[in-house]
Amino acid sequence: LPAMMQQALPVLDKLTEQGFQAFFVGGCVRDTAMGIPIKDVDIASSAKPEQVMAIFPRCIPTGLQHGTVTVVHDGVPYEVTTFRTESEYEKHRRPLQVEFIDRLDGDLQRRDLTINAMAMNASGELYDPFGGLDDIHHKTVRSVGDADARFQEDALRMLRAIRFASQFEFTISDSTWNALLHHRELLRFIAMERVQAELDRMVSGTSPDAALRLLSESELLRYCGTSLPDVNKWTEPVTTGMLSGIAEPDTRYAALMITKDISAADAEETFKALRFPMIRTNAIMSILLLQINMRQQAGELRLAWTEAVIQYGEEAARRWLVVVDWDKQHKQHAHHQCLLDWLNGMSAITLKQLNLNGRQLAEGLQREPGLWTGQLLKRLLLDVALGKLPNTQPELLKQAQIWIIEEQ
Ligand code: ATP
Ligand code: MG
Repeated sequence: LPAMMQQALPVLDKLTEQGFQAFFVGGCVRDTAMGIPIKDVDIASSAKPEQVMAIFPRCIPTGLQHGTVTVVHDGVPYEVTTFRTESEYEKHRRPLQVEFIDRLDGDLQRRDLTINAMAMNASGELYDPFGGLDDIHHKTVRSVGDADARFQEDALRMLRAIRFASQFEFTISDSTWNALLHHRELLRFIAMERVQAELDRMVSGTSPDAALRLLSESELLRYCGTSLPDVNKWTEPVTTGMLSGIAEPDTRYAALMITKDISAADAEETFKALRFPMIRTNAIMSILLLQINMRQQAGELRLAWTEAVIQYGEEAARRWLVVVDWDKQHKQHAHHQCLLDWLNGMSAITLKQLNLNGRQLAEGLQREPGLWTGQLLKRLLLDVALGKLPNTQPELLKQAQIWIIEEQ
């Protein structure tokens, strides 16, 4: 057993001492069987939620109606879920009825994929009624039981099948794939937040390129509840470079939109439809708007770049440079190093970084502060960022004085 599961053994032991069954389930069993590091440890038990809570002093009633209690042991939280079956799914997403049961098999049967429907006991023995281990060996993603029925119950499972297939570079079995194609339109019943969560795992995971290939082949995202503009275009696998060559998730989204030439309006509509947090949408949009600026740039490159960096900020600029470096066909690809050097050389990018503020400027020039102070500071900032002017108070004041005199 991996160390994280060994640490959780006392939780299993306490449950079995009280006469309940308890097993490791889900991702940790799958990842252990695959020989890869596990992320968290989930436990399934015949104990009902209130029985679990009676045994463990420290727990959180996470989802009592679904049978889930979070048990904190040695500071680590574990989800302990009562064996259950699900039935009568409401609108292809949530079970209307969950029934607690006392058999592990029934609990494994309600799970989505064979690789996710295995359990392990405290001695590390595997319970694998649906051939999950076999599918791992054959690198296959397969629904538990009848794929048609399973996707009709919960349409999110279609996206999960693609997520796991891409994450592990597995192939989706023929019958599961055909069922997925057949039931694509059921995705409209799934809340966009859940679509986003799965998509985000795909795009930010280790195999975004494989995920795009499957999303594109299946055209699954065309069937979302809120329609996504250009979705066929931006989910097309990228030819410019492997998306996995970019580290940050949000830079990956920006790279997709940029190489596929998606308009800013359509990109924004997409991230909003997907219910991205505002802060992420804004961060990605800054990269895209900077891109539009640089694409339209006609005059001097250094001036256009410096103005764009000041307008959209250093973070967007650095992320955009990552995209430019990655996309060999990008208009500015040849200038990447030069743009980066200029950026690294900017001693101020924001007014805050300028060694002169509005009050100091007004006092230095012995004039009443007003609209002019802000305008002058911006002009000074641009010259500092361009490397034309040292970022020191005396030099900044001197230059400001010259401009004032020139204007009179
Ligand atoms: P990850 O390592 O990405 O967390 P995981 O397998 O733990 O993978 P979770 O989303 O955390 O995935 O779900 C835990 C387990 O619950 C899954 O392994 C699966 O058995 C079951 N499960 C999750 N979502 C569904 C679903 N929509 N339908 C059926 N079973 C599901
Ligand atoms: Mg998990």
